[in-house]
Amino acid sequence: MSIGRFFLPGPTEVDPEVLAAQAHPMIGHRGSAIQDLIAEIEVGLKQVFLTERPVIISTSSATGLMEAGIRNGVGDGKVLSLVNGAFSKRFADIAIACGRTVDVWEVPWGEYHTPAELSERLASGAYDAVTVTHSETSTGVLQDLEGLADVAAGNERALLLVDSVSGICGTEVRTDEWLLDWVLTGSQKAMALPPGLSFGVASDALLERSAVLAGKGVYFDLVPLIRSLEASQTPATPAIPLLYALRLQLERIIAEGIEARWKRHTAMRERTLEWVAEMSGLGLAPFAPEGHRSPTVTCISLPEGVGGPTVVAGMKERDWVIGSGYGKLKGTTIRIGHMGDRTVDELNLLLDDLEEVIR
Ligand SMILES: *Cc1c(COP(=O)(O)O)cnc(C)c1O
Repeated sequence: MSIGRFFLPGPTEVDPEVLAAQAHPMIGHRGSAIQDLIAEIEVGLKQVFLTERPVIISTSSATGLMEAGIRNGVGDGKVLSLVNGAFSKRFADIAIACGRTVDVWEVPWGEYHTPAELSERLASGAYDAVTVTHSETSTGVLQDLEGLADVAAGNERALLLVDSVSGICGTEVRTDEWLLDWVLTGSQKAMALPPGLSFGVASDALLERSAVLAGKGVYFDLVPLIRSLEASQTPATPAIPLLYALRLQLERIIAEGIEARWKRHTAMRERTLEWVAEMSGLGLAPFAPEGHRSPTVTCISLPEGVGGPTVVAGMKERDWVIGSGYGKLKGTTIRIGHMGDRTVDELNLLLDDLEEVIR
């Protein structure tokens, strides 16, 4: 398949030069070579997260750092989990699996949570942490993270744990300014890297809590992860080839500019929505409500009689990869992952073919 035709909502297409950067001769995971590499990477990651804090580099998929947020950020207290799709449900399930007490605040798939209602729910003072998925990749819904974070910041006790796996690098996230307590992403979404790494930033409040928590396990204990980072190392052997790809991709991201990258993603969303509107006569509609549509992924409801898997297969015949609907939405929706290094021009070519396939 040629470049620019892979629009899966993760993993996303990786630039051939970035892929090739992995084929670097192996180095040891202790010593100055890796320390120089990690130090350089940290500078770039801080610009992506808009933070002055250390950015944890985990050799795991993003789910690992979701679990890290729970293990380090919640003790005996209760968790309020905002659920509006498959990934936000996963966050709640992880908290339950880690033995935490969880109140699930569920709205139907495709909807979102309002800061005003979060404020009411937190007023009881009952919660130690809130989990939220910023960009719900299963439905294409973007939560008002800034608004929710503002409410959480006004609550003494509750830490806000944010899954921004399909948000970071594709839509506005200001880690320090928004006072996020834990925000994480994975390498294979809007960062357009191969899967296998994930990144997270913790607040002082979360680290203070983590320092006195027992039963955190070993691999996702943030205290040693941060301590190692201070010496530009990781506690265990990292995925060294991926770090070379990351270093190059961060150079490319910073050359574009993080805000320019957000804008490019917004332009791809707008073009997709414009196309869906043009196709409304055929019964197509955006699944997410207006004002809450993610810049990185659009979930499109199909007319009755047009099956999601048929459309995905039809596109595959034309050498395009798009996402099928997620879970219970598999039959009735498709998803276009317009994230990473993709462009509006490439998207236009895709939409031309998609129109023919649907007709
Ligand atoms: C992809 C994704 C995840 C899971 O990431 P893995 O790297 O597969 O663990 C979690 N949350 C969201 C919103 C995602 O898009």
